[in-house]
Amino acid sequence: MTEASHGSSFRTLESLVTEEDLKGKRVLIRVDFNVPLEEGPGGLQVGDDTRIRAALPTLKRLLNAGATLFLVSHLGRPKGAPEDAYRMDPVAARLSQLLGAEVRYQATDGPAGAQQQRFVAAAPAGSVTLLENSRFDSRETKNDPAMARVLASYADYYVNDAFGAAHRAHATTEAVARLLPSAAGQLMTAELQALKRLTDQPDRPFVVVLGGAKVSDKLGVIESLLSQADAIIIGGAMAYTFELAKGGSVGGSLVEPDLADTAERILASAEERGVKLLLPPDSVCAQSIAAGVETRVFPSGAIPDGWLGLDVGPRAVELFSRELAGARTVFWNGPLGVFETAPFDAGTTAIAKVVAGLDAYTVVGGGDSIAALTATGLQDQIDHVSTGGGASLEFVEGVALPGVTALEAN
Ligand code: ADP
Ligand code: MG
Repeated sequence: MTEASHGSSFRTLESLVTEEDLKGKRVLIRVDFNVPLEEGPGGLQVGDDTRIRAALPTLKRLLNAGATLFLVSHLGRPKGAPEDAYRMDPVAARLSQLLGAEVRYQATDGPAGAQQQRFVAAAPAGSVTLLENSRFDSRETKNDPAMARVLASYADYYVNDAFGAAHRAHATTEAVARLLPSAAGQLMTAELQALKRLTDQPDRPFVVVLGGAKVSDKLGVIESLLSQADAIIIGGAMAYTFELAKGGSVGGSLVEPDLADTAERILASAEERGVKLLLPPDSVCAQSIAAGVETRVFPSGAIPDGWLGLDVGPRAVELFSRELAGARTVFWNGPLGVFETAPFDAGTTAIAKVVAGLDAYTVVGGGDSIAALTATGLQDQIDHVSTGGGASLEFVEGVALPGVTALEAN
């Protein structure tokens, strides 16, 4: 795989423009402020603000250099039209607190509409303006050049710090980057550098842990990892599709029968290439997903009817821990069980402890994986916790990320 296919030749902010040249310049920044909202005393408010905090270094740097900032992000999944539940005002409020500066915001029909354009034109030098939700505009997900032209007219430079959206070719991530001198922000740069250590001659053995609900979500990454990793550990519901492929019985476990053939092919390919593919020998099972239900441990390929495999079992934890013990590089995506419901979080927690304690380069990515890791309090002992689930998987898979490729053009 070439360097470029991993988006490694992107331009950084430092290489685009000097501090002095930023003074008085207008900068459009694509941020990932797609944060959870919750009901508060004064209406909707931001829940977990990790993503907003993660953007602060880039924003502060630009502000300190004397630039005027326009920030754009998507929030939730509005369907190409304004929806009050997804307006950016709770985000503007939280950002203002964290930044210790006023954040201008006006509710509009989208970031490129006429009203928004007037509000942008009125921005004082050195101010911070948060634009309206990019997905209020149906042209965003179509990577529409006309929408991008309006956004580009707001600024002298474009900075993309939204790693979590880099795998999408949207107007705010791709088209606009082609119209302005563009660079990666500090968060984007840190993400790409951290993930590059997985794809560019990782220290070996390189062990990958994959879990989660569906094989179909991770098929691409499994296939590509067969040529990169020394061992692939599979947990979560995915494991049962593999058991099915081997002719096992998996009771009522979540499976994708259509993918059994694919799973069989992956098993064969792993064997051919000498990549260890480890499935959980046993599973913690129950008759329903609920806290406090009766659980039993069965071999993962011999789960009786009426029982569901909901977590990797004790022998699986032992096997996986032993494999991980020798690893020098670890990439983990996807919980190994239904971690949201105790006691089916036990396998994920046990493996999180093992990974956190390793003398290896460790990376964890994926929304649910990070939630599971954060619940253990061990996130600080992981070398890199990626803010982008889908984007980190596609990067590791070797797919060029459109949002990064576009930064190479200018
Ligand atoms: P991430 O967000 O980290 O990429 P995924 O979204 O792929 O992870 O997978 C997380 C989901 O997988 C969780 O909701 C978890 O409950 C589910 N899951 C894991 N193991 C099982 C299982 N054995 N049966 C059903 N669901 C599972
Ligand atoms: Mg998820």
